[in-house]
Amino acid sequence: MSSVAVITEACLDSNEQACVDVCPVHCIYRLDSVHGELFAEVLAGSGEVAHRHKADPDAAGLFGAAILYVNADECTGCGACCHLDVCPSGAIYLEDRLPDGRPGARYNSRDRYKGHDHTYFAILGRTIFADGLAGGS
Ligand code: SF4
Ligand code: SF4
Repeated sequence: MSSVAVITEACLDSNEQACVDVCPVHCIYRLDSVHGELFAEVLAGSGEVAHRHKADPDAAGLFGAAILYVNADECTGCGACCHLDVCPSGAIYLEDRLPDGRPGARYNSRDRYKGHDHTYFAILGRTIFADGLAGGS
């Protein structure tokens, strides 16, 4: 069974979204707080939206638009986003390589939250998507 990508706290307040640009299936989402929706752009900042979903308000209230979210039902686990030359913050991991804070866990070298248990973000990435596919542009 293939893994899925998980975005962790090192993404918080990041200004670049290079992961969005490399994702072949457009499953990396940003929160639209005004409409309570998650949207995935074809290219970050392009305004061309590939998919939208309703957001769970409780999950969305934790970090809001300060972090991006991978839809685990859509992610193919290709790993294209999980490279330091794509994500310089070292924030995105495949779930089966998600560091859990144990000694010896494999971290992206630039993850500024080394030592944290990131499994919380795998749960958040699933709970924030409140519905099935809501439509595209
Ligand atoms: S692992 Fe592949 S499909 Fe999943 S979010 Fe990253 S680029 Fe997209
Ligand atoms: S996961 Fe990495 S590349 Fe994507 S928005 Fe967050 S910090 Fe930027």
